Amino acid sequence: MRLSSSFIPTLKEVPTDAVIPSHILMIRAGLIRQLSAGIYSMLPAGYKVIRKISEIIREEMNAIGGQEFHLPALNPREIWDDTGRVEAFGDTLFHVKNRDYVLAPTHEEIIAFHAKGSVKSYKDLPQIWYQIQTKFRNEARPRSGVIRGRQFLMKDSYTLDATWEDLDIGYQKHYDAYKAIFDRCGLKYFIVGAHSGAMGGSKSEEFMVKSDAGEDNIAYCEKCGYAANSEVAASVNKPLDRKDEQKEVFEISTPNVKSIDELCEFLSIDETECAKSRVYISDGKPILVLMVGNDEVNESKLENILGSQVRPAHPEELLDITGADAGSIGPIGFKGRIIADMNLKDANNMYSGANKNDYHIGGIDFTRDVANAEFFDLRFVETGEGCTNCGEALEVFKAIELGHIFKLGTKYSEALGANFLDENGKDHPIIMGSYGIGVERVFACYVEQNFDERGIIWGKKLAPFQIQLLGLNMKKDVVVDASEKIYLDLTAKGFDVLFDDRIDASAGFKFNDADLMGMPVQIIVGERNIKENTVEVKVRRDGERFQVKLDELYSKIDEIFESIE
Ligand code: ATP
Ligand code: MG
Repeated sequence: MRLSSSFIPTLKEVPTDAVIPSHILMIRAGLIRQLSAGIYSMLPAGYKVIRKISEIIREEMNAIGGQEFHLPALNPREIWDDTGRVEAFGDTLFHVKNRDYVLAPTHEEIIAFHAKGSVKSYKDLPQIWYQIQTKFRNEARPRSGVIRGRQFLMKDSYTLDATWEDLDIGYQKHYDAYKAIFDRCGLKYFIVGAHSGAMGGSKSEEFMVKSDAGEDNIAYCEKCGYAANSEVAASVNKPLDRKDEQKEVFEISTPNVKSIDELCEFLSIDETECAKSRVYISDGKPILVLMVGNDEVNESKLENILGSQVRPAHPEELLDITGADAGSIGPIGFKGRIIADMNLKDANNMYSGANKNDYHIGGIDFTRDVANAEFFDLRFVETGEGCTNCGEALEVFKAIELGHIFKLGTKYSEALGANFLDENGKDHPIIMGSYGIGVERVFACYVEQNFDERGIIWGKKLAPFQIQLLGLNMKKDVVVDASEKIYLDLTAKGFDVLFDDRIDASAGFKFNDADLMGMPVQIIVGERNIKENTVEVKVRRDGERFQVKLDELYSKIDEIFESIE
């Protein structure tokens, strides 16, 4: 491809709305452009990367027996009502105004729909169905370029099985295929245990990339390799010490004291002497959750404990349930289920709300006064806490989710009646698994992990072009003749070459552009060198630049491509 006639609009300036390296560089290198918040166009060079990633995914999916579909993005709303997911997705689901349609954010429903029509007996199973297709989610805060888009490309696959053992096999196949995909893409990643969330189902794992731009937190143990999403990560509990002095329960007036910090200041006590109360609604019933001091409630852990979704109670509900507003709620006199963090087990002399506005209660002994409390691990793990496997200090860091694998079970097949007949002619819901990879996220995460101050550093597998050929002074015939010949020869040999044949661009401009775009190898054709029958070759990753004789150029290029990743 000749740069003089191609559309790769590179930019010198940093785009104002871009903060993270991948977003900045993908725009500056002319790979993407924003159309509107969270909606991006792939420009020709960027789309080449998308196609390369997709091809790697396709090869690995086909290798585990996946069959490629292309399902409609426009879905009748009814089918999403049937599974309860119009509500579960809430505002994230895009609705089409003039018809009762939704834009699919994922495709479990449509897969179950087709399975219902066509899979009849256990003999038709197992199946692995996949597609690489556009998804729509009205993300509340689209950001970080294509990492969180409102429209994005996903490889989504689904396993259909007759037995749970077969689901395990299909899940394991995906686990292995995902490793192969991300390894081939050259990404450094972690595999972590995860919460199954609104998807339902049992086991789920995520493939994560460490990055400050991430919105997930991962707890990781350097020593034993334990890694989990903080939604489910555990650490060694540190229960509060039980105090020797045994107080009785007493009520205390605390006008206008609403938060734990205000309570600590008002009473001159420590945060660890307070039990924070939060009321949640689960399956229509109130649940009081108690935490030490300012510890946040890990709602994913709570959902896992309850086996159902939770939401915080609304202010009006709070008053109804407890008789008080948020800030004055507590366990004494609370009618309903009480779930407390492990660290509160056996704690005494604690303060909490009195279920009466502007009052708190002190001297609470969890063993004596909150006997009906059930204790669970409900906290978010923090850096420095002990690993439950080996005791070493855990590190908590931000990460981006690249892919997710789920054992879904029968939630969708049951809701949509996708059944099969077993050997005895008995009906069962098909057992499903669901597996996703964000294609643009793979792209952006690769850039996040491969750049320097000059630009992107592509490896040979995902690079839009393998070689950038720079004709330095295209007004000189010697340069034109030599670079044209090299361009045609390398193209004939099967290399995908981006030829900077621009007549008016200066050498410095071409060098900067080539480093910004970051193709793995640069060949620089200058007037002085060519008169001595040499060119310069630069390997972008190590920045090394050396002279190569023209008659050795092609063997040298082959050698370089053998040696680089
Ligand atoms: P997140 O927690 O980041 O919102 P998710 O858990 O909702 O992601 P899944 O439903 O598991 O995402 O989707 C499968 C994959 O699709 C994710 O692992 C991710 O790589 C990709 N993905 C999800 N949402 C987006 C988005 N808004 N933009 C780009 N890729 C996305
Ligand atoms: Mg996910």
